[in-house]
Amino acid sequence: VPHLKIENLHVSVEGKEILKDFNLEIKGGEFHAIMGPNGTGKSTLASAIMGHPKYEITSGSVSIDGEDVLEMEVDERAQAGLFLAMQYPSEISGITNADFLRSAINAKREEGDEISLMKFIRQLDKKMELLDMDESFSHRYLNEGFSGGEKKRNEILQLLMLEPKFAILDEIDSGLDIDALKVVSKGVNEMRSENFGCLIITHYQRLLNYITPDKVHVMMQGRIVKSGGAELAARLEAEGYDWIKAELGIED
Ligand code: ADP
Ligand code: MG
Ligand code: MG
Repeated sequence: VPHLKIENLHVSVEGKEILKDFNLEIKGGEFHAIMGPNGTGKSTLASAIMGHPKYEITSGSVSIDGEDVLEMEVDERAQAGLFLAMQYPSEISGITNADFLRSAINAKREEGDEISLMKFIRQLDKKMELLDMDESFSHRYLNEGFSGGEKKRNEILQLLMLEPKFAILDEIDSGLDIDALKVVSKGVNEMRSENFGCLIITHYQRLLNYITPDKVHVMMQGRIVKSGGAELAARLEAEGYDWIKAELGIED
């Protein structure tokens, strides 16, 4: 099964160290959640793994199946099986959703082994139905004029179509009403298999009522300070983070 390993990761933004000795391993079949107060470095983790140029990795390693991710260009990371849903997905003018998806799928395949148009359309129809997405969506320009909820839904469509080994989903629940949250969760749950591992970053426990994590990690001040099962998320929702700070002697 696929294996994502983050070891002793230190990341700085504009000269300030944000991630401090971050460690995490995820195997295929596992869903992990990271929770933590605002400003603790959760999105920095996602951006650094994606290869965002603003995030400087000062030490540590990230690998998929033993392959060094940090050495790869951004598109190579996707080809290696990484998928990142960002907190603020960008708009791309002039490219329809369907075109974008088909070229993203083909970029991951060998030359000469491109997905046939028929097969692509069949898969797209199936996944869009699962996500209650209107057919017109595939012909619209990528993210252009999409509502917040539509963007999130569209990211999950990308996830289902691209079938990565690992996904990092950063606050896919933010700004969603309950119906959209259920649909997005259904899509993520549909990915469950031993060939897929997922890291769900969220500020709120609500999402984890719909996507049950195998492990929950609490992140504070740039590192994981506590790990547990799904019950840890429930306790955080009820009691906040103060008890963990007290336990660890952390002051804000
Ligand atoms: P979280 O996602 O946990 O809320 P972030 O990773 O967004 O936290 O932010 C962690 C810290 O890093 C914050 O102090 C934030 O201001 C800083 N930071 C993150 N990204 C940037 C950036 N692009 N430019 C400047 N500071 C940043
Ligand atoms: Mg934040
Ligand atoms: Mg964030």
